[in-house]
Amino acid sequence: MDFELTEEQKALVAMAKDFCKRETSPELLREYSAKEDPRDRVPWSVLKKMHDVGLLTVTVPERYGGRDADLLTLVLLAQALAQNTGPGIAGLLAPNLLTFNWKMCGDLGAVGTEEQQDEFFKRITSDYTFSMGEIATEPDHGLDPILPHDEPGSGLATYAYRDGDEYVVNGEKCFCGNGTASLLWVILRTDKTKPVSQSTSILLVPTDTPGFSIQKVNEFISTALGINADLHFDNMRVPARYLVGEENKGFAIFEGRRAFWLPIHGFELGMAQAIYEYTKEYAKTRIQGGKPIFEHLTVGSRIVDMLLHIEQARYLVYKTAWEYDQAVKAGSKLVSSLGFNLCNTTLRELGVLIAGHAAEVFGGRAALKELPIEGYIRSVYGGLHAFGTATFNRIKSMNMI
Ligand SMILES: Cc1cc2nc3c(=O)[nH]c(=O)nc-3n(C[C@H](O)[C@H](O)[C@H](O)COP(=O)(O)OP(=O)(O)OC[C@H]3O[C@@H](n4cnc5c(N)ncnc54)[C@H](O)[C@@H]3O)c2cc1C
Repeated sequence: MDFELTEEQKALVAMAKDFCKRETSPELLREYSAKEDPRDRVPWSVLKKMHDVGLLTVTVPERYGGRDADLLTLVLLAQALAQNTGPGIAGLLAPNLLTFNWKMCGDLGAVGTEEQQDEFFKRITSDYTFSMGEIATEPDHGLDPILPHDEPGSGLATYAYRDGDEYVVNGEKCFCGNGTASLLWVILRTDKTKPVSQSTSILLVPTDTPGFSIQKVNEFISTALGINADLHFDNMRVPARYLVGEENKGFAIFEGRRAFWLPIHGFELGMAQAIYEYTKEYAKTRIQGGKPIFEHLTVGSRIVDMLLHIEQARYLVYKTAWEYDQAVKAGSKLVSSLGFNLCNTTLRELGVLIAGHAAEVFGGRAALKELPIEGYIRSVYGGLHAFGTATFNRIKSMNMI
């Protein structure tokens, strides 16, 4: 086994750390999160700098000016970013913008047509405000799109029918994690009579298309920056050339690319590591019972447990990313990954476990707004259901073994 990172991976991680130190700060978080309208809570100046150093476009193919980064590299990058910023900023970078761009550019390179790639890679590399998102969830269909009740006609109500060279789309979506996306990957039905697995299609939808609207901007306990939004499609006409793959065969793509969300777990790892470091330092300086609380077995062994859980999760995430990259190198574009489902379950539970340990060690101070620990606790719970729950991924794992 070789645990050595490549020179490129080391350089990218060093660049990400350096970027966080230079460009993100608790003041930045305070300034933007205080803005009344959530739409103003996107620090575009930071995103412009991320674009300039290539962080926003790291999974764009090299022929379009990106780095074509593999999954392990993204996990390492995500971890470095989360570990070196506070919880609110990691919240912006993780679910709202960065990983969406990483995931959707990776998907576009893997399953997009030449025409789609040419149009959208050129836009994303030339314009830092051009970002992507993926939306499946509907008010009446939460886990249904990912864990379908695969009966004819049931699940997902957003529907598109073909009219000449266009699709006409009607429906409602909710919880869109990148509410500022310029281009959405919309998971919808193109046949109302068949089961979800045989009637789902993916359409690329530019959000300036007439008929598209944001119905509501959601306020979360966790995400201080960025926008999560509910969407409405009203007789929205989308060129048929924006269909991804074949009509009614989108479910296999949606499912086969799910593991490319793994960088989210890189963020969660980085955040867990940051909580661990912060808790350990606190325990070494807080004196109770005549010595630093770290030296009380009840506290010190709790902190060792935090480290133990983080290290176990780290190896699972790295191994899963590495396996995925090997499959891609061997030519696979769609990978059904048991490891990804195990990672999702592990990392969701890790966050709660680590936050719980930290809350115990910090005592009453865990609840003080002036310390970052309460922000970490909110982040862990706020992200618990994004991209599927621990329970749901257990069911996925059960079905695979
Ligand atoms: C911060 C955040 C960001 C998000 N971003 C996006 C996004 O960008 N795009 C997007 O499409 N969605 C997004 N979501 C939505 C997310 O994917 C859903 O919240 C998630 O899929 C669960 O759906 P639900 O909340 O409707 O819960 P429900 O589906 O109502 O589930 C509720 C409970 O029932 C259980 N359950 C449901 N169905 C089953 C079943 N068949 N078998 C066993 N148990 C079941 C679940 O495990 C859960 O515990 C986001 C959510 C959050 C919180």
